[in-house]
Amino acid sequence: MNLENLIRENVKKLSPYSSARDEFEQFTKPMIYLDANENPFSNGMNRYPDPQQKELKAIIADRNNVPKDNVILGNGSDEVLDLIFRAFCEPNRDNIITLPPTYGMYGVLANINAIENREVLLNEAFQPNVDAILEAVDANTKIIFLCSPNNPTGNSFTDTAVIKILNQFKGFVVLDEAYIDFSKDESWLSVLKDFPNLIITQTLSKAYAMAGLRIGILYASKEIISVLNKIKPPYNINGLSQETAVKKLLQSTMPAQVKKIITERTKLVNALSKCKFVEKIYPSDANFILIKVDDANFRYQQFIDNGIVVRNRSTQPLCENCLRISVGTKEETEQIVELIKNFDDVKKSIVYR
Ligand SMILES: *Cc1c(COP(=O)(O)O)cnc(C)c1O
Repeated sequence: MNLENLIRENVKKLSPYSSARDEFEQFTKPMIYLDANENPFSNGMNRYPDPQQKELKAIIADRNNVPKDNVILGNGSDEVLDLIFRAFCEPNRDNIITLPPTYGMYGVLANINAIENREVLLNEAFQPNVDAILEAVDANTKIIFLCSPNNPTGNSFTDTAVIKILNQFKGFVVLDEAYIDFSKDESWLSVLKDFPNLIITQTLSKAYAMAGLRIGILYASKEIISVLNKIKPPYNINGLSQETAVKKLLQSTMPAQVKKIITERTKLVNALSKCKFVEKIYPSDANFILIKVDDANFRYQQFIDNGIVVRNRSTQPLCENCLRISVGTKEETEQIVELIKNFDDVKKSIVYR
């Protein structure tokens, strides 16, 4: 891979905007800050936040055994994914490859950035069709998006498929690991340094229980990170989010909560497997389960009428009559388990639509 050739011309020429707070750290003695037109009256949030999120980044890098220079944070994964488009994909010329059924944001971001989205369906086992993917690649293909564990199917991609794509594709492979903490498989972070074209994204939104803070994480070579740093909005993570995330990460509640969620996932699978309206339960490496039912629209409404909101994924390719159910607390699982026991008795003659 030749990184220089993959960077957009306008981005190559950019030098990063240097904000007042970028220059903040150079002083060792206490200073009076009259450089950023802030309100001087202290209230905990009157100053601009750290544009490089040093404290938060150090904790995240340290926990994942990755040097800080290989990390960039964004306002949710959405922002770090968008940065990749804006750095490397030339509007109305370049293309990306996504593998439906998968996370919708890759396609949305492609549309926003005027980038063609070449869709190569997963196979029946929800694994990448590696040969078809490589055939879809042309000189303007910049990124292949792999989501593993995949949303909404819940499975992880095989190592063989991921490695073959990494080895044969000369553009970027973005591996979205939003659900990695729920998986029996290891993160690909340990081999990040072996693949200069590998970009891994993770998030504090799922296992770390901080969806409301909007913090996405991107890991890549330090050359890729420095390109992305040039184009990120200077204060992209707000001060309250940085502070709260640091505090919550230090409490280390993640492993225990993940363990509980996996226990509830097993209970939910067991209960679903006893229901006739459930035709298939797909194996899950994530905090949700994809099921195929007799009639997704009918069952979706039946859940709603009983106070439970699930996701109807039946319009997605390969997901006909499929519902996606997130795993909740013990109490929530007990409620849904009780409820679905009666679902088979409800006659489909009841007209919901
Ligand atoms: C939930 C999810 C994310 C997380 O997005 P954030 O913007 O970080 O909240 C990323 N990728 C996938 C596949 C997801 O399902």
